[in-house]
Amino acid sequence: MSSGALRRPLVAANWKMHFLRRDVEAFARELGAGLGAAGAQIVVFPSHPLLPAASWAFGAHAPGVALGGQDLHPEEKGAFTGDVAGAQLADAGCTWALCGHSERRRDHGESDELVGRKVVAADRAGLVPLLCLGEKREERHSGQTFSVLERQLAAGLAGRPARFAVAYEPVWAIGTGETATPEIAQEAHDFLRRRIAALLGSAVAVQTRLLYGGSVTPENAGVLGRQEDIDGFLVGGASLDAAKFLAIIRGSGSS
Ligand code: PEP
Repeated sequence: MSSGALRRPLVAANWKMHFLRRDVEAFARELGAGLGAAGAQIVVFPSHPLLPAASWAFGAHAPGVALGGQDLHPEEKGAFTGDVAGAQLADAGCTWALCGHSERRRDHGESDELVGRKVVAADRAGLVPLLCLGEKREERHSGQTFSVLERQLAAGLAGRPARFAVAYEPVWAIGTGETATPEIAQEAHDFLRRRIAALLGSAVAVQTRLLYGGSVTPENAGVLGRQEDIDGFLVGGASLDAAKFLAIIRGSGSS
């Protein structure tokens, strides 16, 4: 649909509920030493208590790396024990927020509508929302993949955020070692870009980074990254190892 050269590759690390403060500096040091000057934009999503340590460590050792929160509350502030506000993430040094990761949808019952409100909250706080979506195994097998993607995308972008990126993460590929084939991933990304064009216009669609996530490794990043509509990756397990994460960054088409 468009030239990938328009879009700077984006590679994001979702650390989930891993690491302690002591792990963060070693990771930042190794990442900083291995990153080239130009290339992909890198974002790391640590769990919330690690944000101050990550802000310091990446600032010292890998200053180009951005930070994001793994979740945020749709309201700006209030009596929401255990939740985190977009403004608090921004205050802790974040410039991004994950919205609608499948583990949040599964474990916390996040609906499409709630995810859309979180996208709006991130945008309002000056954070770039990274909207995560993807079909479950049974939805793919029953031919519902594209209706699921269409519904999740439309709800996620209903608030028309000023800036956003989208991560296509088929649920059956997350943490399973069963990566989508390049053809399956490209087909889904092409569909998503066309839907974004229909919802928000082709100028927005052409510039939107569409990441693939789901068992990305150094071995499969190259072939996935060469697909026309794959503009980078959201990486879980392999992002806990700086050497593997660096190899994936190199496979993203950025260097
Ligand atoms: C994720 O959780 O976003 C993810 C892609 O995980 P993994 O790379 O481990 O499949």
